[in-house]
Amino acid sequence: MSYDSNNIFAKILRGEIPSHKVYEDDNTLAFMDVMPQADGHTLVIPKAPSRNLLDADPAALGALMASVQKVAHAVRKAFDAEGILIQQFNEPAAGQTVFHLHFHVLPRSTGVPLRAHSGKMADHALLADHAARVRAALEA
Ligand code: 5GP
Repeated sequence: MSYDSNNIFAKILRGEIPSHKVYEDDNTLAFMDVMPQADGHTLVIPKAPSRNLLDADPAALGALMASVQKVAHAVRKAFDAEGILIQQFNEPAAGQTVFHLHFHVLPRSTGVPLRAHSGKMADHALLADHAARVRAALEA
């Protein structure tokens, strides 16, 4: 299995399609999932191309996990979540649908079920509002 540079997240990285960005540094980018399983569902990706965790350069993972942790703190704060679920899928049999490595950051609270994976497209104004909340938490 090889990396296809026409995947949707590669296009987001190149600025070819829009996204609701919340965080960016030299090595990573974080933006709202367009079909959120929970309000505040954020994706964190490396800028370096890799299909998933299995072919990623181990040297890139430290910076990526640091961004996942940073975004997790901000999402928890922005959505007043009791907990944070981190998910990461490798290959279709494991549920992967977009083939650029990414970590899902999902706020969780007791009694609030997750919506379907790759389910319903969210309203863009709502995603913009959620992204602003996460950005504000990152800046606080
Ligand atoms: P995977 O199944 O590969 O772990 O997750 C891919 C995620 O990307 C899904 O949660 C899906 O909702 C999200 N997604 C798919 N297409 C787009 C898109 O064009 N923009 C954004 N922001 N997220 C997307």
